[in-house]
Amino acid sequence: MGQLAEQLEEVRAHVREASLAAGRSPDAVRLIAVSKGQPASALREAYAAGQRDFGENYAQELVAKSRELADLLDLRWHFIGHLQRNKVKDVVGAAAAVHTIDRLAVAEELSRRAPHDLDVLVEVNIEAEPQKAGALAVDVPALARAVDALPRLHLVGLMAIPPAGDAAEASRPHFAALARLAAELRADHPRLVELSMGMSQDYAVAIGEGATLVRVGTAIFGARAPKRTG
Ligand SMILES: *Cc1c(COP(=O)(O)O)cnc(C)c1O
Repeated sequence: MGQLAEQLEEVRAHVREASLAAGRSPDAVRLIAVSKGQPASALREAYAAGQRDFGENYAQELVAKSRELADLLDLRWHFIGHLQRNKVKDVVGAAAAVHTIDRLAVAEELSRRAPHDLDVLVEVNIEAEPQKAGALAVDVPALARAVDALPRLHLVGLMAIPPAGDAAEASRPHFAALARLAAELRADHPRLVELSMGMSQDYAVAIGEGATLVRVGTAIFGARAPKRTG
């Protein structure tokens, strides 16, 4: 087994352990391999080791990789980066899910251009940090109602990136806050069942607080090339 396959297996084992420790079924947690900055060959290796869900942050990178890997028919792309309205047309053709809806204009554009049904999640700026993407918690109910009314979009959950901290445990109250918000919304949105939360550092804590989608990059692929835009 190559190093990538070993790291992937290790993350899967941790996902299972954290699920069982929380009294949850491991099947209720889906691992998204965050592959930004990684070459298509690394994704192919992960795919060969059984990985099917991949997360990308940049529209152009998603488009390029989805072309390179078009032969992997059951691979699912999750768009997890900040989405600009003018990039929607690039993302809709490739993505099975978009995790980062934080304003109605982007959702409307997605709805207009989506060639097929699309799962979407509302990104929440859970601690109302300045300069951070995501809708404020107080604005989420109205946004969720408006998004849910759009054709072709299925509002399936909430996503958050908690404030940066040095310890995994520091994320726990933020994950719990997102889970509470989702539980409140479920009264009006029974299909809002997904919680996209937890990254390499803190996915075990996120699973303890109810994560159904964990977004793990470096723990699977190792360090990535420096951040780029586009
Ligand atoms: C890069 C990224 C991740 C993965 O981060 P790691 O620390 O490498 O696991 C998860 N979610 C989002 C939104 C990201 O941008």
